[in-house]
Amino acid sequence: MSAKYVFVTGGVVSSLGKGLAAASIGCLLESRGLRVNMMKFDPYLNVDPGTMSPFQHGEVFVTDDGAETDLDLGHYERFTHAPLSRDNNLTTGRIYEQIILKERRGDYLGKTVQVIPHVTNEIKNAMRKVSANGADVTIVEIGGTVGDIESLPFLEAIRQMRQELGRENTVFVHLTLVPWIAAAQELKTKPTQHSVKELLSIGIQADILMCRSERELSSEIKQKIAAFCNVEELAVIGAQTLPSIYEVPLGFAKQGVDSLILKYLHIEAPAADLTRWQDLVYRCYHPKDEVSIAIVGKYVEYEDSYKSLKEALTHGAVSQELKLKVTWIEAENLESKTPEDRDYELQLEGFDGILVPGGFGKRGIEGMLNAIRYAREKKVPFFGICLGMQTACIEFARNVCGLRDANSSEFDPASPHRIIYKLRELLGVEEMGGTMRLGAWACILQKDSLAYRAYGVTEISERHRHRYEFNREYEAQLTAGGLRLSGTTPDATYVEIVEIPGHPYFLGCQFHPEFKSKPLEPHPLFREFIVASYKNRQARMPAGSRTEAVAAQESVAAQD
Ligand code: GLN
Repeated sequence: MSAKYVFVTGGVVSSLGKGLAAASIGCLLESRGLRVNMMKFDPYLNVDPGTMSPFQHGEVFVTDDGAETDLDLGHYERFTHAPLSRDNNLTTGRIYEQIILKERRGDYLGKTVQVIPHVTNEIKNAMRKVSANGADVTIVEIGGTVGDIESLPFLEAIRQMRQELGRENTVFVHLTLVPWIAAAQELKTKPTQHSVKELLSIGIQADILMCRSERELSSEIKQKIAAFCNVEELAVIGAQTLPSIYEVPLGFAKQGVDSLILKYLHIEAPAADLTRWQDLVYRCYHPKDEVSIAIVGKYVEYEDSYKSLKEALTHGAVSQELKLKVTWIEAENLESKTPEDRDYELQLEGFDGILVPGGFGKRGIEGMLNAIRYAREKKVPFFGICLGMQTACIEFARNVCGLRDANSSEFDPASPHRIIYKLRELLGVEEMGGTMRLGAWACILQKDSLAYRAYGVTEISERHRHRYEFNREYEAQLTAGGLRLSGTTPDATYVEIVEIPGHPYFLGCQFHPEFKSKPLEPHPLFREFIVASYKNRQARMPAGSRTEAVAAQESVAAQD
């Protein structure tokens, strides 16, 4: 079979969930027995999102090979088995970086280097490289919105791909908005018409339109869109906002999106098997109870900064037939005004579990330490991730081992007790121009530890994105105080997991387990954290007492 592509573009406005739509298409094609690969082009000039603020960009998703990528790659990994690496997410900055490198090397043999053909060729080569990785179908998402100056080279490249490969090897999917106008009590198709026209003006006729809307599209609306936008009526897909994102692939399947794509690509494939997704969605909509988790972090007003984290918690909760209730707490608001001030306790009361996620910089650290102290002392299940693990070690050093000024050299370079420090700088390790530890690293777990009980194996691999590490010079003092180092790299250089035995669930890990959790394969650490949190809830709540949230959810489900 020759290389086949599905190109996903977006129009009208941004934030329509193009990544999720692309991932859902991938999921559906996999359900038909095809091997898919997925990639995203981002039109901005940063070489990658690694240096961008979480407030600007949302989460930086990390792949096994240590690429810092767009958060849509997280959707791709959660919804498909596409093998993702740094080749699967390219920005304009990366493309230009490659071209300028070649130009300086003299690779262009004196020619004038131009957007067409040099930039477009670079883009097309990147697509070919990914599709050559054994995929039956490669799904390519173009970031940004049609009409943006920045995305033009990418759109031109996909136009050329159709010219070169033909209709039977390429499908254009365009995601648009069909807004509901309350005053007219009508769904409006004009923005979609304009967006399709805009695409057409650069030579791309959309084959399939995915119409985001708050309401279901009637067949009249679909007919109208089909007629004005020059697509089959069957190819006008309603992409209504759904209570759970895991229902999106099922919603597309109902409207025959997979069959349509296969028809356009001239592929014969077995019928879809979506039973595991159906079962998952059923569990999402029929929880037996809820579990409440407080996330004490520093980018909490912008939930996209912790996208994979929220997903991984949801996977854990749904696996236990629980509805996840997350409360985001700004760490800075938990800081004490005086050493005796314990007002923060009021804000932390009543949660089933407390989680401190990753982060960079000093702001909010003292608040995180208070939250960890609370969880440790009151025996509330605690999960610390990356920065959360580092702060857990600092808290333990200060409040259990009496090392008053214990800190990380990230927050206090002059600290007399640098429990967390830049080990890689001392070791002289530098990768890709920095000392950041990125991507997959092996970790050996101690038998009989909480971590081992969760994973059920002694060797694991998890993804990293941090500069600072646990300082083993303090190992003897902290372990004497009761902290257990239950996971390290195979050569024992880096400490990867710490725990407090005897506590219902107190675990910190230096890696980011959230990047590897999938709805159908919940991550063991998140699953066990949820199990422990729910046990804590049951111990506090009278048996059978159900919260209003669950009752409301059940009544919604009953109406379906
Ligand atoms: N700021 C810490 C470090 O660089 C933690 C980073 C993180 O949580 N991802 O090591």
